Amino acid sequence: MKKQTAAIHTAFRTKDAYNSLSMPVYHTAAYEFDDAATMSDAFCGRSDMPDYSRVMNPTVTFFENKVRSLTGASDVVALSSGMAAISNSLLAVSSAGKNIVSSKHLFGNTYSLITGTLKRFGVEPRLCDLTDPAQVEQAIDDNTCCIFFEIITNPQMEVADIRALSAVARRHGIPLMADTTLIPFTQFSAGELGVDIEIVSSTKYLSGGATSIGGLVIDYGNFPEFSKRIRNEMLFNLGAYMTPHVAYMQTIGLETLDARYRIQSENALALARKLKSLDGVMSVNYIGLEDNRFHALARSQFGHTAGAMVTIDLADKEACFDFINRLRLIRRATNLFDNKTLAIHPASTIFGPFTDSQRESMDIKDTTIRLSIGLEDPDDIFDDIRQALTPEQ
Ligand SMILES: *Cc1c(COP(=O)(O)O)cnc(C)c1O
Repeated sequence: MKKQTAAIHTAFRTKDAYNSLSMPVYHTAAYEFDDAATMSDAFCGRSDMPDYSRVMNPTVTFFENKVRSLTGASDVVALSSGMAAISNSLLAVSSAGKNIVSSKHLFGNTYSLITGTLKRFGVEPRLCDLTDPAQVEQAIDDNTCCIFFEIITNPQMEVADIRALSAVARRHGIPLMADTTLIPFTQFSAGELGVDIEIVSSTKYLSGGATSIGGLVIDYGNFPEFSKRIRNEMLFNLGAYMTPHVAYMQTIGLETLDARYRIQSENALALARKLKSLDGVMSVNYIGLEDNRFHALARSQFGHTAGAMVTIDLADKEACFDFINRLRLIRRATNLFDNKTLAIHPASTIFGPFTDSQRESMDIKDTTIRLSIGLEDPDDIFDDIRQALTPEQ
């Protein structure tokens, strides 16, 4: 089956009693067993019967199986948020005395997780320039437990060479973990590029119109104990498994993911091309533009689409605030890849709690507006941006 077909037709593991066409939502905490031996088999991992919904639930398993058949992964675990997927994965590979090699350009909470929370437990952050594989290799030593990076950094839009990072990780026998939230897995195969553990915030493109919070850990099977540890230790002890209702909504979202994404990424490209010409726009950052410094690399890794996040730089912070305040159609909100177009000023919001020098080291600029392009007609989005750039007469 091709990916789009698998997204729609992956079958349930067991036939529903009523021949339901969609996977029923098993809103249930526990499961009953016919006898003691079957019960013991379920609890000890000798069968795949669910026993308790903190660690397994039929509706969540179905969602996981759909993602597995689409990505060709060996195992997929669905968690309660993108951050749960990231934190559980990093906790599964790290321990006091180990270090994580990562980038200084990270999603805000991932940055605080690595440089704050995990550091408090004795895991050392080693943040480097991931566009320089030699620097990454130098940062690695015997205590490095993984390389963690984002395929396109947000909002800087920096693209790392995944094949080169994978070669470094392989030489040192450590897992390459990639947060691939910015390009859906229907469009490219992280596993084929050499990613060992793929992590997705399914809150974004996948959920289908910002319906719910979720995260996925997609394990390509190169580190055989990894997903076992996520299931048998992390889900049990940390309790951040996805809930059945979210799995239901995200299963429906998955079915239309690629169709929505194709329109949103087309809209983003069309707008990025036109925005350059507007008065007040100093620069447009979108890897789909031919003159972007990451364009060729992005194309070779992700194919012909470049995502639905575009950033523009205006004259200064005041111009950014005025722009945000004048928007009529575009919504002032965080989040990415809602059906609606969203705008945010990252420096004063997502990165607001950081100090000036932290923001500077992360290349977060006061002049940047981040746009997440939605499913509206692109002419209407463009008109709103144009009027928002124009001061009232
Ligand atoms: C949103 C996001 C996350 C966090 O996901 P949540 O579902 O909000 O916890 C992690 N990484 C990236 C790149 C994101 O955009």
